[in-house]
Amino acid sequence: MSLDLINSFSVILFGLIIGSFLNVVIYRFPRGESLAFPPSHCPKCDHQIKPWENIPVLSYLFLRGKCSACKTSISARYPLVESLNAVVFYLSFLKFGVTWDLLVFALFGSLLIAIAFIDIDYLIIPDSMIIIGLIPGFYLWLSRSDQLLTPQFYGFIGLGLTFWAIRFFGELAFKKEAMGFGDVKFAAMAGWVLGWDVGIVSMFLAFLSATLLFTILIPIGVINRKQQVPFGPFICLGIWLGLMWGREIIDWYLSSFIGV
Ligand SMILES: [Zn+2]
Repeated sequence: MSLDLINSFSVILFGLIIGSFLNVVIYRFPRGESLAFPPSHCPKCDHQIKPWENIPVLSYLFLRGKCSACKTSISARYPLVESLNAVVFYLSFLKFGVTWDLLVFALFGSLLIAIAFIDIDYLIIPDSMIIIGLIPGFYLWLSRSDQLLTPQFYGFIGLGLTFWAIRFFGELAFKKEAMGFGDVKFAAMAGWVLGWDVGIVSMFLAFLSATLLFTILIPIGVINRKQQVPFGPFICLGIWLGLMWGREIIDWYLSSFIGV
């Protein structure tokens, strides 16, 4: 086996294992439960999950999505989160190779997945997760050059203020909360990690993906207009796309439309 194949395999395996842990985080963290104890158990019959029932994706498949004791359906979201995290890890590996960047940004991707699903379930973005999300920004600042500090600082202030203004004026216009304060803090965090230029691209992608999804989901009746829909998952997607391809998008835009 070539080294590249071994690396790819390891990265995907590691992604699946972290993804399995993410399911625990998404379920327990907002409830204020310990992430380590008690061991995982079926929420319906309390059957303790055996190690062989806890293999990412595979266990779900050979249990046919049911608890082995009481046959209650297990949500398809568990293998989905595991697979999604493995994909994020693998694409990060393709971009960064075997580097410290891979470790930092693959785990940052995992954090974004956790935030997205917690926001879907509870309509909150935990402050502690936003604070953890600032770490890659410090990592970039310290590992690259000190010139990076200025764009990151502008990103933090600029995106934070922009989202705060959307929240403030949205509330004036619609007489209801247009955007949660968690989204404002999250946008500021994104600016700190990505810098103002890639930060703007990522927030544009967040609004674009939200608009695209709503134009599909509202007509087919999955969500209705009055429902409160979390914006956090779209910010997560935007940040991740910006992180992976933001620089390329900016270069493409400048060369296509401005001719730089
Ligand atoms: Zn059960």
